[in-house]
Amino acid sequence: MATAPNAFISSADITHYVAGAPYAGTGDRSQPVYNPATGAVARQLKLGSVADVNAAVAAAQAAFPAWAETPPIRRARILNAFLGLLNQHKDTLAAMITAEHGKVFTDAQGEVTRGIEIVEFACGAPQLLKTDFTDQVGTGIDNWTLRQPLGVVAGITPFNFPVMVPMWMFPVALATGNTFVLKPSERDPSPSLFIAELLKQAGLPDGVFNVVQGDKVAVDALLHHPDVKAVSFVGSTPIAQYIYETGAKNGKRVQALGGAKNHMVVMPDADIDQAVDALIGAAYGSAGERCMAISVAVLVGDVADKVIPKLAERAKALKIKNGMELDAEMGPIVTAQARDRIEGYIALGVEEGAKLVVDGRGHSVAGHEQGFFTGGTLFDHVTPQMRIYKEEIFGPVLACVRVADFAEALTLVNAHEFGNGVACFTSDGNIAREFSRRVQVGMVGINVPIPVPMAWHGFGGWKKSLFGDMHAYGEEGVRFYTKQKSIMQRWPASIAKGAEFVMPTAK
Ligand code: NAD
Repeated sequence: MATAPNAFISSADITHYVAGAPYAGTGDRSQPVYNPATGAVARQLKLGSVADVNAAVAAAQAAFPAWAETPPIRRARILNAFLGLLNQHKDTLAAMITAEHGKVFTDAQGEVTRGIEIVEFACGAPQLLKTDFTDQVGTGIDNWTLRQPLGVVAGITPFNFPVMVPMWMFPVALATGNTFVLKPSERDPSPSLFIAELLKQAGLPDGVFNVVQGDKVAVDALLHHPDVKAVSFVGSTPIAQYIYETGAKNGKRVQALGGAKNHMVVMPDADIDQAVDALIGAAYGSAGERCMAISVAVLVGDVADKVIPKLAERAKALKIKNGMELDAEMGPIVTAQARDRIEGYIALGVEEGAKLVVDGRGHSVAGHEQGFFTGGTLFDHVTPQMRIYKEEIFGPVLACVRVADFAEALTLVNAHEFGNGVACFTSDGNIAREFSRRVQVGMVGINVPIPVPMAWHGFGGWKKSLFGDMHAYGEEGVRFYTKQKSIMQRWPASIAKGAEFVMPTAK
């Protein structure tokens, strides 16, 4: 019977989901989950123990042989039923995101839609798994490849996209015949359980998709479990590097997507109003808590003097409210601790000598005085030596750097240790082409501030924004979750008599 979504946003403790049912777990540790708009503790989250991880992996391992044998088209039909349920419950999922993350409801709806697109992609499983065949590589011999699933795979995800980022992973992993254990962020864990329930309603066999809540204890148990064959991670760079190294040391395939410091270059020939709109949305949307948020504006030539006054006016006028209010442009920060970290960076920027044009610190929202709000912040005259330029702040803070020309802009972007996303606003086709080809960043937007690739293109940064070889979803996702097998075959009628002692070659 269908479970009402409200069962997942009640006041009960948030637990795990193992073998097709909610699972209370064995651990006695728990931590609060907040409503960031009010600052109130919403629910308690049970933190998974090593035994809980073992139970989830055992369920996934038991479900693997039958799921791997299920024809891809039948797996796709289940994903298609899941897609229907997601569309039906889109707004419930979006409300769950806003309740625990704080981002505005309309943005949360956008997040769900971007996740749904990966499910749509994964519904093409039979086509995605179609492989190559070569007839007659030698007389009477054919050679072809298969892509087979790995087994139990795990996903470890960040707070900032509690629906979309897990959906970068599990739809592709399931479509390709793997079983899955998700370890969601401990800050906004509820959507993961609703997703598990929708998958069950769609007809997914028990144990194919499992959720273990928790922190480092659960993550480490996954990284050391011999039955976990691959780990997909999205989060901050230090943890991404740790996941990559530890997973690889334990013989696992790992893709670990890390932090970012995304630049947007504005050339003097750009449409200035379009550039301002783009900077405001990309810097302050989701309170800057996006791995593709623009946190550095690189203003070329005389652009700064035109753009900064407009940015200042707009940053001061942002509608900052409880994200459930439909006209809100920016909601609260996810936790009080994150808000304090962001405001600490603003103080640091002042100490370092950047010019604070708009100061968002201490922002209060009437009726939500205990909420974790901070305002939009704008710095001018930021230099590459400053920590507010070098480090990821992950909040609504835009740092403007002034440069003389295109060459200086490109050198600046390429020298940064992160390489997740980047944008260039220009009306010059040659600049656009040169920028796209020469920039050392994984995802590039030309007059597109947040160039998150579509489901069939794959998502991934360069440098310290990604550890591993394969990007998330798209064809690289299919490769990540499958291993290639080459099969060569001939039949007795074409086999010559006698042993062969030389390297086989085409005859
Ligand atoms: P985080 O690194 O703190 O947490 C990510 C996950 O790792 C969570 O599930 C968490 O429980 C787990 N974790 C945290 N500390 C751990 C530890 N010491 N050992 C093992 N596991 C640990 O990241 P976050 O604060 O949830 O998310 C924000 C970060 O994620 C930002 O740096 C942002 O840029 C990044 N991010 C990157 C992308 C991308 O695609 N590159 C996408 C979204 C977010």
